[in-house]
Amino acid sequence: MARIGRQLYRRVSDRAEHRCEYCKLPQAAEVMDLTIDHVIPRAEGGPTSLSNSALACLWCNAHKWKSTKALDPRTGRWVRLFHPRRDRWEDHFKWAPEDLARIEGRTATGRATVDLLEMNSGRALAIRRWLMRIGLHPP
Ligand SMILES: [Zn+2]
Repeated sequence: MARIGRQLYRRVSDRAEHRCEYCKLPQAAEVMDLTIDHVIPRAEGGPTSLSNSALACLWCNAHKWKSTKALDPRTGRWVRLFHPRRDRWEDHFKWAPEDLARIEGRTATGRATVDLLEMNSGRALAIRRWLMRIGLHPP
């Protein structure tokens, strides 16, 4: 986190209400600090700034890596990923009505992001089920 700076980290974390802005994992469920994701990757010229930062868990950040696009599993088309600064989470994702631990994409962007970030991995589902039992999920 040396390149981010404490003040920026705190502002990003407060703005995100201390949850991953992709999968909504709360900081309270994670031993490590949630990370700062460059929404537009540094490799593509994305700045280290409040407007290009999103709070992300290690899992989501590692899977997103340098991506800005991914395949929509329904259509097989390349689409842009969810952009936490421009998009509203609720417009692109929802908790599956039959299983609130699962994230469903509402749009091509939502589906592609769920798929690339493997937001419904077995481990993620297990963690969300535990969080449900202690009232931390869904947010
Ligand atoms: Zn996450």
